[in-house]
Amino acid sequence: MSLPTAEEHVHAVLATAARRSVGEKEFMQAVHEVLETLTPVLQEHPEYIEAGILDRLVEPERQILFRVPWVDDTGRVRVNRGFRVQFNSALGPFKGGLRFHPSVNLSVVKFLGFEQIFKNALTGQRIGGGKGGSDFDPAGRSDGEVMRFCQSFMTELVHHIGENMDVPAGDIGVGAREIGYMFGQHRRITQRYEAGTLTGKGVGWGGAEVRTEATGFGAVFFAEEMLRKAGQGIAGLKAAVSGSGNVAIHVIQKVEQLGGRAITASDSSGYIVDEDGIDVELLKQVKVVERARISAYAERRPSARFVKDGKVWDVPVDLAFPCATENEIGLADAQALIRGGVRAVTEGANMPTTPEAVALFQEASVLFAPGKAANAGGVATSALEMRQNAARSRWDFDTSENRLHAIMTDVHDSTYEASERYGRPGDYVLGANAAAFVTVSQAMLEQGVI
Ligand code: NDP
Repeated sequence: MSLPTAEEHVHAVLATAARRSVGEKEFMQAVHEVLETLTPVLQEHPEYIEAGILDRLVEPERQILFRVPWVDDTGRVRVNRGFRVQFNSALGPFKGGLRFHPSVNLSVVKFLGFEQIFKNALTGQRIGGGKGGSDFDPAGRSDGEVMRFCQSFMTELVHHIGENMDVPAGDIGVGAREIGYMFGQHRRITQRYEAGTLTGKGVGWGGAEVRTEATGFGAVFFAEEMLRKAGQGIAGLKAAVSGSGNVAIHVIQKVEQLGGRAITASDSSGYIVDEDGIDVELLKQVKVVERARISAYAERRPSARFVKDGKVWDVPVDLAFPCATENEIGLADAQALIRGGVRAVTEGANMPTTPEAVALFQEASVLFAPGKAANAGGVATSALEMRQNAARSRWDFDTSENRLHAIMTDVHDSTYEASERYGRPGDYVLGANAAAFVTVSQAMLEQGVI
């Protein structure tokens, strides 16, 4: 029987995925974004079509859904839903963060897990892709409530994770505090100190230096390489950053260390503009120490103003780093950024730019770095944490940052080379998808039909 053409094959896989994933709009957006770029790769590798690689890639190996009951401070029982989607382990144990946010549902977890397969492949660190989380909202909850939730969540998750099986980390709403509570419960249930079961741990008890900074620093290293390739640099440029969480804070810090000026940050209540450059220490005080709203920054800094309910993309800048959440740059935002003279957009968040906005940036010759390449520094450093746990060793900050820098340079170069190979030099979307797809497909092909 003759094989379908690459176009026919992509079309058929998309149709099946859509039929099986009714209502999963984020997941289908991610699947479209990847598959629609892969035709030239499939033309070169008909064996991937014959082996059903794409058909298998869009179907998670395993999906775990569970009830998470916990007791709030008033004594009332609350129930949330827990998720872990183990998407693909052809390259190594499943690896990917846990997100705690009210918007979490199966579609969001599947989209993140699907992206994670490709991101992890790009790091070259031999890790598979997975993701998880809960619709639990840590905002406004006491430490005791967060702890009881995390303990209940881990009481089920413990059955599905392990250093050679699945290694979760943080994401939105899951930072050092939550990882600590989950690790404690894992240790208590298993009666074993398995440091390599979770990453993002405290540096005093198995965590890696630079893991906290890694996603943000890595995104700026990627932007630096992308600009260098285009004959430019970060020094002297103005940047708009959205979000004010882990990724945003460390993007701002690294932009400033490299001589640029990050002038915005945001949260779900609005954004701040500080033309003098964001004071990172004050931002950390407000958002990390006090867990306050972003407006508190403007109240304490005369050069800053707070804009309620707006978006940072209206501020004219040279560089944009979306670091909050998915689909936060739509068509109108992209138009505003282009009008403001933006030269490069680097995704710190996962899928923060809609497909229409990506197309507009590319038409306007704005350099565009997709999250699966640009924000891969976090998971890459998690893999370095696993390596240190296995060897019971600990690298210092500079060693860890240098390794992160080298990995991000490699991610950039392999992505750029793939964009050249498939005929669109500088198209980092195509490059990231193609380079990662070939790596994963080859492993799947060699491991047989499983
Ligand atoms: P945090 O929870 O530390 O911070 C998230 C920030 O984004 C907060 O400022 C939050 O505001 C804002 N935000 C979240 N959801 C929304 C929303 N629906 N609307 C408006 N603002 C929102 O998360 P991270 O910094 O860890 O993650 C940010 C992004 O980076 C996510 O897309 C994540 O998947 C991605 N990422 C994170 C990695 C990591 O290592 N942490 C690794 C790779 C990617 P508020 O406080 O008001 O909710």
